[in-house]
Amino acid sequence: MGNIPDGLKRKLSSYFTFSSVKLVRKQGAIDTTLKFLWKLSDGQYVESVLIPASPSFYGEASDRHTLCVSTQVGCAYGCKFCASGLEGFKRNLKPGEVIDQVLAVETLFKKRVSGGKRLITNLVIMGMGEPLANYDNLLDALNILNSKWSANIGARKITISTSGLVPQIIKLSDQPRQYRLAISLHGATDEVRDKIMPINRKYSLSKLTDAVEIYQSKKKGSITFEYILIDGINDGVDQVPHLAMLSDRLRAKVNIIPYNNVEGLRYKRPSATSQESFMKALIDKGVRATLRREKGHDIDAACGQLRLRKEKELDSNGN
Ligand code: SF4
Repeated sequence: MGNIPDGLKRKLSSYFTFSSVKLVRKQGAIDTTLKFLWKLSDGQYVESVLIPASPSFYGEASDRHTLCVSTQVGCAYGCKFCASGLEGFKRNLKPGEVIDQVLAVETLFKKRVSGGKRLITNLVIMGMGEPLANYDNLLDALNILNSKWSANIGARKITISTSGLVPQIIKLSDQPRQYRLAISLHGATDEVRDKIMPINRKYSLSKLTDAVEIYQSKKKGSITFEYILIDGINDGVDQVPHLAMLSDRLRAKVNIIPYNNVEGLRYKRPSATSQESFMKALIDKGVRATLRREKGHDIDAACGQLRLRKEKELDSNGN
Protein backbone atom coordinates (compact mmCIF):
# COMPACT_ATOMS: atom_id res chain seq x y z
CA MET A 1 0.00 0.00 0.00
CA GLY A 2 1.71 3.11 -1.22
CA ASN A 3 -1.03 5.55 -0.34
CA ILE A 4 -0.90 5.56 3.46
CA PRO A 5 1.51 7.45 5.75
CA ASP A 6 4.66 5.69 7.04
CA GLY A 7 3.51 6.02 10.66
CA LEU A 8 0.28 4.17 9.92
CA LYS A 9 2.20 1.47 7.99
CA ARG A 10 4.41 0.90 11.04
CA LYS A 11 1.40 0.75 13.32
CA LEU A 12 -0.42 -1.68 11.03
CA SER A 13 2.62 -3.92 10.71
CA SER A 14 2.87 -4.14 14.50
CA TYR A 15 -0.65 -5.59 14.57
CA PHE A 16 -0.92 -7.58 11.35
CA THR A 17 1.16 -9.86 9.16
CA PHE A 18 0.45 -10.89 5.58
CA SER A 19 1.74 -14.42 5.90
CA SER A 20 2.80 -16.38 8.95
CA VAL A 21 4.82 -18.91 6.91
CA LYS A 22 7.99 -18.25 4.95
CA LEU A 23 9.23 -20.67 2.32
CA VAL A 24 12.60 -22.16 3.25
CA ARG A 25 12.81 -25.08 0.84
CA LYS A 26 10.81 -26.46 -2.05
CA GLN A 27 11.67 -29.95 -3.09
CA GLY A 28 10.16 -31.64 -6.11
CA ALA A 29 10.00 -35.28 -7.08
CA ILE A 30 10.29 -36.56 -10.58
CA ASP A 31 6.66 -37.56 -10.48
CA THR A 32 5.70 -33.97 -9.65
CA THR A 33 4.92 -34.26 -5.96
CA LEU A 34 6.27 -31.15 -4.28
CA LYS A 35 7.22 -30.72 -0.68
CA PHE A 36 7.50 -27.36 1.09
CA LEU A 37 9.38 -26.53 4.27
CA TRP A 38 8.02 -23.40 5.98
CA LYS A 39 9.57 -21.30 8.70
CA LEU A 40 7.10 -19.90 11.22
CA SER A 41 7.47 -16.52 12.90
CA ASP A 42 9.00 -18.10 16.03
CA GLY A 43 11.65 -19.97 14.00
CA GLN A 44 9.93 -23.38 14.05
CA TYR A 45 9.52 -25.41 10.87
CA VAL A 46 6.56 -27.28 9.37
CA GLU A 47 5.92 -29.03 6.08
CA SER A 48 3.23 -29.29 3.42
CA VAL A 49 3.05 -31.55 0.36
CA LEU A 50 1.35 -30.72 -2.93
CA ILE A 51 0.08 -33.72 -4.85
CA PRO A 52 -1.21 -32.98 -8.34
CA ALA A 53 -3.61 -35.52 -9.80
CA SER A 54 -2.03 -35.31 -13.20
CA PRO A 55 1.62 -35.35 -14.23
CA SER A 56 0.76 -32.59 -16.68
CA PHE A 57 0.99 -30.18 -13.76
CA TYR A 58 4.14 -28.55 -15.05
CA GLY A 59 2.96 -26.71 -18.09
CA GLU A 60 -0.77 -26.77 -17.71
CA ALA A 61 -2.91 -26.95 -14.66
CA SER A 62 -4.67 -30.24 -14.08
CA ASP A 63 -8.01 -29.98 -12.39
CA ARG A 64 -7.21 -31.52 -9.01
CA HIS A 65 -4.46 -30.53 -6.62
CA THR A 66 -4.38 -31.88 -3.11
CA LEU A 67 -2.40 -30.17 -0.41
CA CYS A 68 -1.39 -32.06 2.71
CA VAL A 69 -0.94 -29.60 5.57
CA SER A 70 0.57 -29.70 9.07
CA THR A 71 -1.32 -28.77 12.22
CA GLN A 72 1.38 -28.96 14.89
CA VAL A 73 5.12 -28.46 15.23
CA GLY A 74 6.27 -31.97 16.08
CA CYS A 75 3.86 -34.43 17.62
CA ALA A 76 3.25 -35.79 21.09
CA TYR A 77 1.80 -39.12 20.02
CA GLY A 78 5.08 -40.88 19.36
CA CYS A 79 4.13 -43.43 16.71
CA LYS A 80 7.30 -45.47 16.47
CA PHE A 81 7.73 -45.32 12.69
CA CYS A 82 7.06 -41.59 12.29
CA ALA A 83 9.59 -38.82 11.68
CA SER A 84 7.21 -36.09 12.89
CA GLY A 85 7.18 -37.35 16.44
CA LEU A 86 10.91 -38.06 16.69
CA GLU A 87 11.73 -34.88 18.58
CA GLY A 88 8.48 -34.65 20.50
CA PHE A 89 5.85 -31.98 20.52
CA LYS A 90 6.69 -28.27 20.28
CA ARG A 91 3.40 -26.45 19.82
CA ASN A 92 0.03 -26.24 18.10
CA LEU A 93 -0.27 -24.25 14.91
CA LYS A 94 -2.61 -21.27 15.04
CA PRO A 95 -5.50 -21.13 12.55
CA GLY A 96 -3.62 -18.59 10.43
CA GLU A 97 -0.58 -20.86 10.20
CA VAL A 98 -2.71 -23.69 8.82
CA ILE A 99 -4.49 -21.38 6.36
CA ASP A 100 -1.24 -19.73 5.26
CA GLN A 101 0.19 -23.07 4.09
CA VAL A 102 -2.63 -23.13 1.52
CA LEU A 103 -2.39 -19.47 0.57
CA ALA A 104 1.41 -19.52 0.29
CA VAL A 105 1.34 -22.49 -2.11
CA GLU A 106 -1.36 -20.82 -4.18
CA THR A 107 0.67 -17.62 -4.31
CA LEU A 108 3.74 -19.54 -5.53
CA PHE A 109 1.78 -21.02 -8.44
CA LYS A 110 -0.66 -18.24 -9.19
CA LYS A 111 0.72 -17.64 -12.68
CA ARG A 112 -0.09 -21.24 -13.65
CA VAL A 113 -3.76 -20.98 -12.82
CA SER A 114 -5.96 -18.94 -15.10
CA GLY A 115 -9.57 -17.84 -15.23
CA GLY A 116 -9.83 -16.85 -11.56
CA LYS A 117 -9.64 -20.51 -10.47
CA ARG A 118 -7.84 -21.53 -7.32
CA LEU A 119 -5.03 -24.06 -7.35
CA ILE A 120 -5.87 -26.14 -4.27
CA THR A 121 -9.05 -28.15 -4.72
CA ASN A 122 -8.57 -30.79 -2.02
CA LEU A 123 -7.02 -30.76 1.42
CA VAL A 124 -5.74 -33.61 3.52
CA ILE A 125 -4.95 -32.85 7.13
CA MET A 126 -2.31 -35.47 7.40
CA GLY A 127 0.95 -33.55 7.69
CA MET A 128 2.98 -33.09 10.82
CA GLY A 129 1.04 -33.43 14.07
CA GLU A 130 -2.15 -35.07 15.30
CA PRO A 131 -4.85 -32.76 13.87
CA LEU A 132 -7.52 -33.59 16.44
CA ALA A 133 -5.13 -32.72 19.28
CA ASN A 134 -5.33 -29.14 17.97
CA TYR A 135 -9.09 -29.34 17.55
CA ASP A 136 -10.26 -25.75 17.99
CA ASN A 137 -7.55 -24.14 15.86
CA LEU A 138 -7.99 -26.81 13.19
CA LEU A 139 -11.73 -26.31 12.97
CA ASP A 140 -11.33 -22.51 12.88
CA ALA A 141 -8.88 -22.90 9.99
CA LEU A 142 -10.98 -25.40 8.07
CA ASN A 143 -14.20 -23.46 8.51
CA ILE A 144 -12.45 -20.44 7.00
CA LEU A 145 -10.88 -22.43 4.13
CA ASN A 146 -14.31 -23.94 3.45
CA SER A 147 -16.07 -20.56 3.31
CA LYS A 148 -17.17 -19.10 0.00
CA TRP A 149 -15.48 -15.79 0.82
CA SER A 150 -12.19 -17.60 1.44
CA ALA A 151 -10.57 -20.53 -0.38
CA ASN A 152 -13.99 -22.14 -0.99
CA ILE A 153 -12.68 -25.70 -0.66
CA GLY A 154 -15.69 -28.01 -0.35
CA ALA A 155 -16.07 -29.72 3.03
CA ARG A 156 -16.21 -33.12 1.31
CA LYS A 157 -12.88 -32.34 -0.30
CA ILE A 158 -11.27 -31.88 3.09
CA THR A 159 -10.10 -35.03 4.86
CA ILE A 160 -9.09 -34.97 8.51
CA SER A 161 -6.83 -37.82 9.48
CA THR A 162 -6.43 -38.98 13.05
CA SER A 163 -4.42 -41.67 14.77
CA GLY A 164 -7.52 -42.37 16.88
CA LEU A 165 -8.43 -39.65 19.39
CA VAL A 166 -11.79 -41.04 20.44
CA PRO A 167 -13.34 -38.04 22.30
CA GLN A 168 -12.44 -35.67 19.47
CA ILE A 169 -13.86 -38.02 16.80
CA ILE A 170 -17.17 -37.93 18.69
CA LYS A 171 -16.94 -34.15 19.04
CA LEU A 172 -16.23 -33.83 15.31
CA SER A 173 -19.42 -35.73 14.54
CA ASP A 174 -21.40 -32.91 16.21
CA GLN A 175 -20.00 -30.04 14.18
CA PRO A 176 -22.14 -29.14 11.18
CA ARG A 177 -19.81 -29.53 8.20
CA GLN A 178 -19.32 -32.75 6.22
CA TYR A 179 -15.56 -33.06 6.54
CA ARG A 180 -14.25 -36.48 5.65
CA LEU A 181 -12.59 -38.66 8.24
CA ALA A 182 -9.55 -40.86 7.77
CA ILE A 183 -8.17 -43.15 10.44
CA SER A 184 -4.44 -43.77 10.54
CA LEU A 185 -4.87 -47.43 11.37
CA HIS A 186 -1.51 -49.04 10.56
CA GLY A 187 -2.48 -52.24 12.35
CA ALA A 188 -5.69 -54.26 12.38
CA THR A 189 -5.23 -55.82 15.83
CA ASP A 190 -4.50 -54.26 19.21
CA GLU A 191 -1.36 -56.36 19.40
CA VAL A 192 0.15 -54.72 16.32
CA ARG A 193 -1.17 -51.22 17.05
CA ASP A 194 0.09 -51.35 20.64
CA LYS A 195 3.59 -52.02 19.34
CA ILE A 196 3.79 -49.04 17.01
CA MET A 197 1.11 -46.55 18.13
CA PRO A 198 1.07 -45.63 21.85
CA ILE A 199 -2.39 -44.00 21.41
CA ASN A 200 -3.84 -47.50 21.08
CA ARG A 201 -3.13 -48.24 24.74
CA LYS A 202 -5.50 -45.43 25.66
CA TYR A 203 -8.05 -45.88 22.88
CA SER A 204 -8.09 -49.50 21.78
CA LEU A 205 -9.50 -50.65 18.46
CA SER A 206 -12.86 -51.43 20.01
CA LYS A 207 -13.18 -47.91 21.48
CA LEU A 208 -11.99 -46.46 18.18
CA THR A 209 -14.47 -48.41 16.06
CA ASP A 210 -17.32 -47.46 18.43
CA ALA A 211 -16.38 -43.78 18.05
CA VAL A 212 -16.21 -44.06 14.26
CA GLU A 213 -19.66 -45.66 14.24
CA ILE A 214 -21.01 -42.71 16.20
CA TYR A 215 -19.37 -40.42 13.64
CA GLN A 216 -20.91 -42.36 10.78
CA SER A 217 -24.36 -42.30 12.32
CA LYS A 218 -24.29 -38.50 12.02
CA LYS A 219 -22.27 -37.91 8.86
CA LYS A 220 -22.59 -39.02 5.27
CA GLY A 221 -19.75 -40.39 3.17
CA SER A 222 -17.39 -43.25 3.67
CA ILE A 223 -14.30 -43.15 5.80
CA THR A 224 -10.80 -44.19 4.88
CA PHE A 225 -8.25 -46.30 6.68
CA GLU A 226 -4.67 -45.28 6.08
CA TYR A 227 -2.43 -48.31 6.47
CA ILE A 228 1.30 -47.73 6.18
CA LEU A 229 2.78 -51.09 5.30
CA ILE A 230 5.95 -51.77 7.30
CA ASP A 231 8.20 -54.72 6.70
CA GLY A 232 7.83 -57.43 9.34
CA ILE A 233 5.54 -55.29 11.52
CA ASN A 234 2.10 -55.13 9.95
CA ASP A 235 2.54 -56.60 6.47
CA GLY A 236 1.75 -60.22 7.41
CA VAL A 237 -1.34 -61.66 5.77
CA ASP A 238 -2.52 -62.59 9.28
CA GLN A 239 -3.60 -58.93 9.55
CA VAL A 240 -5.80 -59.20 6.47
CA PRO A 241 -8.90 -60.92 7.98
CA HIS A 242 -8.94 -58.38 10.84
CA LEU A 243 -8.52 -55.48 8.43
CA ALA A 244 -11.28 -56.87 6.21
CA MET A 245 -13.58 -57.21 9.21
CA LEU A 246 -12.95 -53.62 10.34
CA SER A 247 -13.35 -52.30 6.83
CA ASP A 248 -16.62 -54.18 6.42
CA ARG A 249 -17.99 -53.02 9.77
CA LEU A 250 -17.13 -49.35 9.12
CA ARG A 251 -17.65 -49.39 5.34
CA ALA A 252 -14.13 -48.06 5.01
CA LYS A 253 -11.89 -47.83 1.98
CA VAL A 254 -8.32 -48.88 2.69
CA ASN A 255 -5.29 -46.98 1.44
CA ILE A 256 -2.19 -49.12 1.61
CA ILE A 257 0.90 -46.94 1.69
CA PRO A 258 4.32 -48.59 1.51
CA TYR A 259 6.50 -47.18 4.29
CA ASN A 260 8.94 -44.39 3.47
CA ASN A 261 12.21 -45.23 5.18
CA VAL A 262 13.21 -42.62 7.78
CA GLU A 263 16.84 -41.92 8.59
CA GLY A 264 17.55 -43.05 12.16
CA LEU A 265 14.58 -45.44 12.40
CA ARG A 266 14.85 -49.19 12.02
CA TYR A 267 11.59 -49.67 10.10
CA LYS A 268 11.68 -50.62 6.43
CA ARG A 269 9.49 -50.62 3.37
CA PRO A 270 8.35 -54.15 2.45
CA SER A 271 9.44 -55.63 -0.85
CA ALA A 272 7.21 -55.12 -3.88
CA THR A 273 6.27 -58.81 -3.64
CA SER A 274 5.08 -58.48 -0.03
CA GLN A 275 3.11 -55.36 -0.94
CA GLU A 276 1.39 -57.17 -3.80
CA SER A 277 0.64 -60.26 -1.67
CA PHE A 278 -0.94 -58.13 1.05
CA MET A 279 -3.03 -56.28 -1.53
CA LYS A 280 -4.12 -59.45 -3.25
CA ALA A 281 -5.22 -61.00 0.05
CA LEU A 282 -7.27 -57.88 0.81
CA ILE A 283 -8.91 -57.78 -2.60
CA ASP A 284 -9.67 -61.51 -2.31
CA LYS A 285 -11.57 -60.69 0.90
CA GLY A 286 -13.63 -58.13 -1.01
CA VAL A 287 -12.02 -55.05 0.59
CA ARG A 288 -12.02 -51.78 -1.37
CA ALA A 289 -8.29 -51.18 -1.23
CA THR A 290 -5.72 -49.24 -3.20
CA LEU A 291 -1.99 -49.56 -3.05
CA ARG A 292 -0.54 -46.08 -3.17
CA ARG A 293 2.55 -45.82 -5.26
CA GLU A 294 4.13 -43.31 -2.93
CA LYS A 295 4.65 -40.25 -5.05
CA GLY A 296 7.21 -38.65 -2.83
CA HIS A 297 9.55 -41.51 -1.96
CA ASP A 298 12.53 -39.69 -3.40
CA ILE A 299 11.95 -36.38 -1.61
CA ASP A 300 12.05 -37.36 2.07
CA ALA A 301 8.30 -37.73 1.78
CA ALA A 302 7.65 -39.32 5.14
CA CYS A 303 6.16 -36.47 7.04
CA GLY A 304 8.62 -34.59 9.23
CA GLN A 305 11.78 -35.60 7.39
CA LEU A 306 12.52 -32.24 5.76
CA ARG A 307 12.11 -30.51 9.08
CA LEU A 308 14.38 -32.99 10.85
CA ARG A 309 17.04 -32.50 8.20
CA LYS A 310 16.83 -28.72 8.53
CA GLU A 311 17.13 -28.91 12.32
CA LYS A 312 20.18 -31.18 12.03
CA GLU A 313 21.79 -28.67 9.63
CA LEU A 314 21.15 -25.87 12.14
CA ASP A 315 22.60 -27.98 14.97
CA SER A 316 25.73 -28.82 13.01
CA ASN A 317 26.19 -25.10 12.20
CA GLY A 318 25.96 -24.31 15.90
CA ASN A 319 22.66 -22.40 15.54
S1 SF4 B 1 1.81 -40.73 12.77
FE1 SF4 B 1 0.65 -38.85 13.20
S2 SF4 B 1 0.01 -39.08 15.36
FE2 SF4 B 1 1.65 -40.58 15.02
S3 SF4 B 1 3.55 -39.49 15.70
FE3 SF4 B 1 3.30 -39.18 13.46
S4 SF4 B 1 2.23 -37.22 13.27
FE4 SF4 B 1 1.93 -37.96 15.38
